[in-house]
Amino acid sequence: MRYGWFLLLLLPFLLAPFPFYLTLLNFFALSGLVALSLYVLTGLAGMTSFAQAAFMGMGAYATALLTVKAGLSPWFGLAAGLALSLLLALVLGGLTVRLKGHFLPLSTIAWQVALYILAGNLVGLTGGHTGLTDLPPLVLLGFPLDNAFRYGLLSLLVLVLAVLALHNLRFSRLGRALLALRGDALAAASFGVDPAALRLKAFLLAGAMAGLAGFLYAHFLRFVNPTPFSLEASIKYLVMAVAGGVGTIPGVLLGAALFTGLEDWLKDLLPLLLGRQGNYETIAYGLVLAGILLLAPQGLFPLLARFLPRKEGSLPRAEPLPLPAPSGARGEVVLEAQGLRKAFGGLLAVNGVFFALRRGEILALIGPNGAGKSTTFNLLTGAIPPDGGRVFLFGKEITGLPPHRIHPLGLGRTFQHPHLFPELSVLENAALGTYARTRAGFSRVLLGLHGEEEARALATAYRALKRVGLEGLALEPAARLTAGQQRLLEIARLLASGAEVLLLDEPAAGLRAGEKRELARLLKALAREGYTVLIVDHDMDLIMGLADRVVVMNYGEKIAEGTPEEVQRNPLVRAAYLGEAA
Ligand code: ADP
Ligand code: MG
Repeated sequence: MRYGWFLLLLLPFLLAPFPFYLTLLNFFALSGLVALSLYVLTGLAGMTSFAQAAFMGMGAYATALLTVKAGLSPWFGLAAGLALSLLLALVLGGLTVRLKGHFLPLSTIAWQVALYILAGNLVGLTGGHTGLTDLPPLVLLGFPLDNAFRYGLLSLLVLVLAVLALHNLRFSRLGRALLALRGDALAAASFGVDPAALRLKAFLLAGAMAGLAGFLYAHFLRFVNPTPFSLEASIKYLVMAVAGGVGTIPGVLLGAALFTGLEDWLKDLLPLLLGRQGNYETIAYGLVLAGILLLAPQGLFPLLARFLPRKEGSLPRAEPLPLPAPSGARGEVVLEAQGLRKAFGGLLAVNGVFFALRRGEILALIGPNGAGKSTTFNLLTGAIPPDGGRVFLFGKEITGLPPHRIHPLGLGRTFQHPHLFPELSVLENAALGTYARTRAGFSRVLLGLHGEEEARALATAYRALKRVGLEGLALEPAARLTAGQQRLLEIARLLASGAEVLLLDEPAAGLRAGEKRELARLLKALAREGYTVLIVDHDMDLIMGLADRVVVMNYGEKIAEGTPEEVQRNPLVRAAYLGEAA
């Protein structure tokens, strides 16, 4: 089915009698490649770049300079172009991926504008606005690609290979992790994704793709000047991708096809309509984009896709990943908080909390709303750094480590408000948990060599779904789940992660009575198997029937610790809960 994309290679044959359309076809393929780079960047990773044309410029000028000025082979030009685009991406991304909000788009605009000005003014090197002419044609297997028909075969082949590689990426641990990052970086980090590193890699991939498109563009026209690598061009690519549907591969290609055709048509039409010459396309693009987004906020393709037959996924059948062997004896301390402290402004949310969690036990952390329980979870898992105190996991100090470094050591958590990814299937949401247990990197994934590991990751996720009773919904989008099912899915994701120490923040909130009993049975079974559970919940019946020990917090401080019976009798606890005089 996926290989159906190769049918695009028939287009040059169909259009062979129409040289003009062959040229447009090349422009479509090259714009499509740039739009696909935005699928990676915006569609998957949720970043915005106004510099994709500048990356193209790197690819184009590198090969122009090396072939025209130094007389080298275009393949040196390709290598240099890719290296330059990667370098630009490294600088741009390296400076900004850690920053939130608008820093990345703004700095891409700045670089885009600066490089454009540079290309126009370094007349001695780049030929200024006149550019560089007489680039040699590419030669493949002895054939010079010196006409639009031959070149179309190459540009479409590159486009199709890019589509297949990105399809591999989408259905891999990296694709899921990128989508998760876009939705919720904290949740992604909690199962081992290093947000800054992964964003940077996505940025590098997108930069290299645009650089490759620039190289192909230069040898197609056999001439480069700054115009096609301007900010307007970058905006055009963004508009294409967004209008077509930046979240899907067919969407960005639809956008590329539409706008390549539109551009040509508008160039003829607008001067007629307006009665004068000028670059009015940009305004027209803006209007078209606004129109499309009003009609279809996700872009055109998702709108059309509703009328296409829905593909049924299939359930995984591979062997799950092996369960990690328990690493020590029952009863030994696995997680220890020593004097944890955290203040928000003047409010001491957690104030000197000590406790130890022992292997195989279920420890409940209870207390009135605002007592500091969720903040304690965030301190233990690295989601926020403590102001004071230390945390030890399996005897190793983890204070101040970020969540993506802590998780792989064997600590997993769920959130008070489920952090799931509604557009992913239930199975894929659970499979996110296996991120830290799988290894395939970008090169393996893009080449499609991650299949076996991916199958095992999905099988692991499916086994975890069975454990919480959600296997019947595996292929549904997570958006369909009830509040209770969402909590169970977070637990399944946690089980798929193989973490031994499970921190559950109000897992029973929103569950029905029957579901709560199931949950209690599951947690008890897990504890018997050697998992260790720290649970926060407000349902006292559940907690009292489940917990081996209870730690009670109030106003950020630990006020009691003991067996459920002991804390229930404790006058301080009764006072905190019931407002009784102590
Ligand atoms: P619990 O989970 O026990 O209900 P929390 O740990 O969520 O309590 O909150 C403890 C206190 O810290 C509350 O008063 C809450 O308003 C405050 N708090 C929690 N997170 C933040 C934050 N990010 N910024 C400011 N105040 C916060
Ligand atoms: Mg809370």
